Amino acid sequence: TKTYASRSGLFGDTRVVHAVKDVSFHIRRGETLGLVGESGSGKSTVARLVMRLLDPDRGDIRIGGADLAGASGSALRTARRRVQMVFQDPFASLNPRRRIGLSIADGPIASGTPRAVALEEARALLELVGLDPRAANRYPHEFSGGQRQRIGIARALALKPDLIVADEPVSALDVSVQKHVLGLLDDIKTRLRLSMLFITHDLHVAAQVCDRIAVMRRGEIVEVRLASELFASPEHPYTRELLAAAL
Ligand code: ATP
Ligand code: MG
Repeated sequence: TKTYASRSGLFGDTRVVHAVKDVSFHIRRGETLGLVGESGSGKSTVARLVMRLLDPDRGDIRIGGADLAGASGSALRTARRRVQMVFQDPFASLNPRRRIGLSIADGPIASGTPRAVALEEARALLELVGLDPRAANRYPHEFSGGQRQRIGIARALALKPDLIVADEPVSALDVSVQKHVLGLLDDIKTRLRLSMLFITHDLHVAAQVCDRIAVMRRGEIVEVRLASELFASPEHPYTRELLAAAL
């Protein structure tokens, strides 16, 4: 559960927004759980909670054996490393003045990997995400949106996370590029046996990569089902509404 104190109206009176309420889910190893819901339903708040960028008012966050909600100091830093994020705007995680090889290697270098090793791994990661390893010496602006998102994914993988949290990772890309990036995410998840929390407002996108889907509405999960079942026979009236609207 997470509430925000939020200013509203002309007079800036403070009210409490229940952004996330009693949300509970698990993700198995190698599984992609989709989190769908309309704007403001609380999806990104869940992402920030899973990363422990926000403190929950109430509840547990467990990644493998580690308890993220209760951790602090170095235990929190170690636990956090197991979760990496892919953003809607890959520029959010790439320094425009830094060669992309270094941007990818930054995390490992900061956690003690020798620079040369980290840079070599960065080149291998670029290859893994379908880019020329020689691209390591170039800058973010030299790439297309889809390529930048591949770089964002490589950067997220550099710290060898157990869980990837992807918040609208393809929403800024056009449909043909979306397909390729979604295919890449699916392929990587299978090859590395990663778990993924995949956030999207777009049911068509969710259908392409998610094993299970949780439907959020006003801060609560109304239904969690296997993706195939959800599309074939939605149970909650709100899910039916969403599906009807997406046709
Ligand atoms: P979108 O699809 O537009 O990204 P979302 O499902 O990710 O939406 P959240 O960003 O999690 O939604 O927001 C959930 C609710 O919490 C909204 O009512 C939002 O206005 C509120 N909220 C989010 N961040 C803050 C904040 N920092 N301070 C106050 N209220 C916030
Ligand atoms: Mg959001």
